[in-house]
Amino acid sequence: MTDVKRYALVTGASRGIGRAVAVKLAEMGYTILINYASNTAAAEQTLARVQEVGSEGELMPFDVTDAAAVESALTAWKERHAGEHIAVIVNNAGIRKDNLMMWMPRTEWHQVLDTTLDGFFHVTQPLLKDMIVAKWGRIVNIVSLSGIKGMPGQTNYSAAKGGLIAATKALASEVAKKRITVNAVAPGFIRTDMTSDLPEAELKKMIPAARFGEAEEVADLVAFLCSDKAAYITGEVISINGGIYM
Ligand code: NAP
Repeated sequence: MTDVKRYALVTGASRGIGRAVAVKLAEMGYTILINYASNTAAAEQTLARVQEVGSEGELMPFDVTDAAAVESALTAWKERHAGEHIAVIVNNAGIRKDNLMMWMPRTEWHQVLDTTLDGFFHVTQPLLKDMIVAKWGRIVNIVSLSGIKGMPGQTNYSAAKGGLIAATKALASEVAKKRITVNAVAPGFIRTDMTSDLPEAELKKMIPAARFGEAEEVADLVAFLCSDKAAYITGEVISINGGIYM
């Protein structure tokens, strides 16, 4: 791998899908910037896994909703790495605050939209220019089946992920000429902390594959989209859901 492609930033990489993506990109030779909100112990486990597969990484805690915190972390990184840049961004940090719209307080609406949409903007915007100058980049946004289909009890989450899908397509058209691809990966039900409160035995009856997916399966897809082989795939939303077709 050339130096220009050396660093990958994965948001929400302390646990779940983000951790699996971090380890997979580390296997590809990337040095991983492991973002998370507060769970340092879990982020350190991700770093240990990254090192186990023979790569390097560093913890980069910040709340993706906090513009000033993101800017300060990215500026500090750039100062420590003069002449280098982040070539791969996986916007994975996300939260669920499910409620029927009728009972949904404004805070639950904003927390979910801010994490997904503001998070995407805060992290991606300051890193785009370096990718454009380098004429190579990969941006993968983790969305959801809920953002394609619309799920009851998830108007906030569906709106956030649907908005991110639209942003993915718009940005992909802006930067395609610069050999930067922007894609969205839309998981169905994946076994992580986020879904640990869901009745898996009941829900798997509606999944043709009859099981929840694993974070590593999502990570394999993300890794492919980050590879050179995926250079001609951009502006796409790729589902990974065990066959739940709409
Ligand atoms: P998870 O196990 O709950 O992990 C969430 C991760 O996001 C953690 O690393 C957490 O950090 C981080 N995070 C949350 N809010 C953040 C913030 N404001 N700033 C920075 N980091 C933040 O979730 P997951 O299941 O792996 O989900 C990952 C992504 O996939 C999310 O975008 C989710 O919407 C999407 N997704 C998941 C499923 C599924 O079935 N699991 C399905 C479709 C889509 P801390 O550890 O510090 O809290």
